[in-house]
Amino acid sequence: MATTDQTTPDHWDVIIVGTGHGGAQAAIALRQQGHEGSILMIGRDTAPPYERPPLSKEYLAGDKGFERIMIRPEAFWAERDITLRLGAAVTAIDPIAHRLTLSDGGQPTYRKLIWSGGGDPRRLPVPGAVLPGVFYVRDKADADAMMAALTDGAKRAVVIGGGYIGLEAAAVLRKLGCEVTLIEMLPRVLARVAGEELSTFYTAEHRRQGVDVRLETGVHSVLGEEAGRVTGVRLDTGEELACDMVIVGIGVVPAVAPLIAAGAAGSNGVDVDFCCRTTLDDVYAIGDCAAHANPYADNAVIRLESVQNAHDMAATVARAIMGEKEPYHALPWFWSNQYDLKLQTAGLNLDYDQTVLRGDPETRKFTVVYMRAGVPIAFDCVGTMKDYVQGRKLLENGPGKIDPALLANPDVAIRDLM
Ligand code: FAD
Repeated sequence: MATTDQTTPDHWDVIIVGTGHGGAQAAIALRQQGHEGSILMIGRDTAPPYERPPLSKEYLAGDKGFERIMIRPEAFWAERDITLRLGAAVTAIDPIAHRLTLSDGGQPTYRKLIWSGGGDPRRLPVPGAVLPGVFYVRDKADADAMMAALTDGAKRAVVIGGGYIGLEAAAVLRKLGCEVTLIEMLPRVLARVAGEELSTFYTAEHRRQGVDVRLETGVHSVLGEEAGRVTGVRLDTGEELACDMVIVGIGVVPAVAPLIAAGAAGSNGVDVDFCCRTTLDDVYAIGDCAAHANPYADNAVIRLESVQNAHDMAATVARAIMGEKEPYHALPWFWSNQYDLKLQTAGLNLDYDQTVLRGDPETRKFTVVYMRAGVPIAFDCVGTMKDYVQGRKLLENGPGKIDPALLANPDVAIRDLM
């Protein structure tokens, strides 16, 4: 039943599930756009909303404390009349009654529901993976547990997974003086997200920094003392690597089980339309868990795991709830920090058929341009801020074909190719 009246003490105009990037930004955007109804944010996490990217970067390294990664100061939420219910998980949704069931026994009802549940780390499917000393990096509690292990003297780490999170964690651990081995099953790191040039560069960089990078290597099991902590990792080859901690970064499983159980359509996350509506009445979904047709991927249905996507979808959904149904069409962008290197990515490189290298990776400043049928579709910029800024503009303007020889020349500004 759709009503804005506070008919029961636990009825809310908007309930937001998830206190991460998407959830927090949705609440902020609703208030910015003049929404005056009640807002409840429900989160499994016990900490107030915080940024996730620093968990594998500055926070893990100890360079930024929790205060500096909070999305807003703690008092902000009450000042904006946004109620936080922390440490509570939504376990079920009744889409007809517009009612949720919570792990703390609560049964709040909503007029509109925004689901921003993000994802749970994919678990390592091998024997020994549940031993103490095996870590994932998703929540503050995960990073805190790793930091505690380091304080307790862990010195040898095996990182499983050569995606951004694994590589960033490896860089921090090296900085903290650990011996690090990084295991990647595929022939190159970042294989699912970047071209060969970037993979080759980061592999070389990590090796130069002392990480033992093992490609095309599978993990057989995690070894430990009887009922004790991790002592090593056995590879598929039979080789055993001794270690005190294992960090697993092998992807994310969208956290949408209650939505799907309630009847929402979705196979990889939950399906949403152009303004982030699910197939359930009055239920929206945003962020990592939202499978949407992305205009920068030729309207292929994809999920994006980035702060940009969570923030821009939050703005789209807030507008939709305020009655302005503007299609989601934001340009995807992303970043990753490893050692002193800053990577900035614009666009999506899906189905690229050519890459153009701009600059020399030896200088640690270069750009990879991804092309499809002669048209630039994405930029990976390592230390090349200008290329990133101008590349974004180019993509937003909808570029036509560009001569690869001109793009490859770093003396020709991308701006001049528009
Ligand atoms: P999240 O921020 O994950 O928030 C989801 C919240 O929902 C969580 O708090 C979760 O506990 C809660 N939740 C889930 N299910 C329930 C339930 N049933 N009931 C109640 N609460 C629930 N992106 C970048 O763009 N650049 C980066 O450099 C970058 N680095 C990253 C580093 C790390 C270590 C991680 C983990 C992610 C990184 N990302 C980065 C990705 C980025 O953080 C995510 O894309 C973003 O947080 C997605 O926002 P979200 O709201 O969809 O999900």
